Amino acid sequence: MRYHDSIIDLVGDTPLVKLSKVTEGISATVLAKVEYFNPGGSVKDRIALRMIEAAEASGALRPGGTIVEPTSGNTGVGLAIVAQQKGYKCIFVCPDKVSTDKINTLRAYGAEVVVCPTAVAPEHPDSYYNVSDRLVRETPNAWKPDQYSNPDNPASHYHSTGPELWDQTEGRITHFVAGVGTGGTISGTGRYLKDASGGKVQVIGADPEGSVYSGGTGRPYLVEGVGEDFWPTAYDRTVADEIVAVSDKDSFQMTRRLAKEEGLLVGGSCGMAVVAALEVARRLGPDDVVVVLLPDGGRGYLSKIFNDDWMADYGFLPTAQDEATIGEVL
Ligand code: PMP
Repeated sequence: MRYHDSIIDLVGDTPLVKLSKVTEGISATVLAKVEYFNPGGSVKDRIALRMIEAAEASGALRPGGTIVEPTSGNTGVGLAIVAQQKGYKCIFVCPDKVSTDKINTLRAYGAEVVVCPTAVAPEHPDSYYNVSDRLVRETPNAWKPDQYSNPDNPASHYHSTGPELWDQTEGRITHFVAGVGTGGTISGTGRYLKDASGGKVQVIGADPEGSVYSGGTGRPYLVEGVGEDFWPTAYDRTVADEIVAVSDKDSFQMTRRLAKEEGLLVGGSCGMAVVAALEVARRLGPDDVVVVLLPDGGRGYLSKIFNDDWMADYGFLPTAQDEATIGEVL
């Protein structure tokens, strides 16, 4: 019989798929690392597993313990799955702007979700930050992973994503492109690939226009999961050789093309990363191998990116002029 003992044995070892339609006119090979094949549907399963196992080993997380983290998204799903399988409780703190679908997903996995008002200042006792700090203090046996400062976030990528890519490309990868949120993916994977290649692999970060990584001030953007208004310690500034800023419009139009042309129903940060990867690949030749990491699937974005009315409200639907120049712009 061929089976796995637990769903968490399926974290990692995600496939690489060649992009063949959106790469028209490009001679380099562009491969996508499709992270929605992880059991929780995103790259964040990797960090959840390593952060929890490291906390067990250090004694920070003890039997019967409770994991408390301010998260509404992919990290919450990864933590919830690993926690239930290992017998821990989870309490997630979310701002009230988070969709009910996301909250219901976390609850479906057995997590408790505390919703806080968005319209209060960070120092208010009911703010997202204060509530999660208070829950950590008041819950017996509580542990807060804090993906923004936890070194096991980038370490999970150094020990899984990086070696997988080196092995899958038989050491032929020349460029690695990933979006930057906490910075864990690019720092850990990028560092491993630099080490394995003797510094040859070029590492490129993709960032929403307005975010600090590409020189912005933290001005708002709509792509979820990437960009920041501060510099997290999980991000190692010495790894990326280049940061490419991408607009919401280009990110979302590419996200829709990935579904329509490549059969990849993925999230908006995936479209963003692919725009950056193609910008890089356009400068390269036939011996180059560009790998772009696609963090999650598109099901969580059906009422936004894949909804024409939402796209039209923001002016993101392609115009006739966009269509005419799509090969050059995207
Ligand atoms: N895309 C999505 C959808 C994410 O949830 C995240 C994680 N915040 C990222 C990209 C960026 O990954 P990282 O935090 O490792 O930089």
